Amino acid sequence: EALKRIETLEPKVQSFLCVTAEKAMEQARAVDAKISAGEEIGMLAGIPIGIKDNMCTKGIATTCASRILENFVPPYESTVTQKLFDAGAVMVGKTNLDEFAMGGSTETSAYKKTANPWDLSRVPGGSSGGSAAAVAAGECVVSIGSDTGGSIRQPASFCGVVGIKPTYGLVSRYGLVAFASSLDQIGPFSRSVEDSAILLNAIAGYDPKDSTSLKVEIPDYATNLKPGSMSYNGRKIRIGIIKETFGEGLDATVEQSVNTAIEKLKELGAEIVEISCPRFRYGLPSYYIIAPSEASANLARYDGVKYGMRAEDAENLLSMYTRTRANGFGAEVKRRIMIGTYALSSGYYDAYYLKAQKVRTLIKQDFESAFEKVDVLVSPVAPTTAFKAGEKTTDPLSMYLIDLMTIPVNLAGLPGISVPCGFDNEGMPIGLQLVGNALREDLLFQVAYAYE
Ligand code: GLN
Repeated sequence: EALKRIETLEPKVQSFLCVTAEKAMEQARAVDAKISAGEEIGMLAGIPIGIKDNMCTKGIATTCASRILENFVPPYESTVTQKLFDAGAVMVGKTNLDEFAMGGSTETSAYKKTANPWDLSRVPGGSSGGSAAAVAAGECVVSIGSDTGGSIRQPASFCGVVGIKPTYGLVSRYGLVAFASSLDQIGPFSRSVEDSAILLNAIAGYDPKDSTSLKVEIPDYATNLKPGSMSYNGRKIRIGIIKETFGEGLDATVEQSVNTAIEKLKELGAEIVEISCPRFRYGLPSYYIIAPSEASANLARYDGVKYGMRAEDAENLLSMYTRTRANGFGAEVKRRIMIGTYALSSGYYDAYYLKAQKVRTLIKQDFESAFEKVDVLVSPVAPTTAFKAGEKTTDPLSMYLIDLMTIPVNLAGLPGISVPCGFDNEGMPIGLQLVGNALREDLLFQVAYAYE
């Protein structure tokens, strides 16, 4: 059914960089065989899933939507895809993204532009736009994305689906192509909160192959969900509205929907208070130093020697490196490499990179003091709904501004979920962001489930 739907809708939506029909049928048959043999099947048995194309899949091209990895076929499986396959999931394809996950609209992909299924003239958000659009269009039941500064939550919001960025270290990054390693985290997309909870259970957990992986007990997120419950430890759940995410720059319809959602949370029994995170607004500028800095180091490995594309017409080794990189990377990726290299260079390091790291600590402290008072924080996901394709491609700053509310959550390593909370006047979906303290995905799911 999913493959049929992909065949009908792909010409319009273009969520996938490659459809892995053969692999899907093979995995589906394996589930069938298990059922016939009376063997136990995994918790995702037979569930069609899309995988963002920055996660390594053994024997299947993994391009990061970049020309430089056009011919790259990983010789190994990422931990996340391995876990999904072990649980019986059926991979229908690799989804489109902004090149190396750098962007907020999936328009920096070197291969295709994904459309928003709610209005094909609009972007699906990004960078995991393909994964969000595929679920919204019903091309797969669930999908996987990665979130460095908002790339799961923002496209989830733009496409009207649920998306969660887990606590940094909860899900293994082994086999995820690195963008900014101290921020990158993998997470699910789904139509319902419960499905995201099930999916997170399937992919979370300690992995010795990722040195930042957390050695913690993973709760059963899904079976613990109780409808309508807004109590925790025998008392009301306390929800803090992040004051600084409202006001100037926020679309009126987004503000209205989020306020209505907060009213509903109150009616459901939550205690609502206002919280101030005064350094929150410095998240964006510090992220746009830290993320490019890490990216400039991570992307140094694409030199034409070890992976993917290699310039053919070079006279010597140096020109092979430079031509490969000049031809292989797109404009946004080059911009990030240049910003990052500049920020890390001797003489500027203290003024930019080190300063940004200090601001990162201050933002973390804002969250820490907020979580002394409340269990969960609430804000809009993005200041606007999905915009028209092409609207922001010539103005990178306006594209970066979309990440204002999602970025601080990555800088602090906290979990954040986007849940649909209404539509604007043009019928475009709006997302509500719930942010939890480290490893409190259980509370996020509980509140989101009660709200949904
Ligand atoms: N839009 C942000 C950026 O361009 C976030 C991307 C992401 O989370 N991968 O960096």
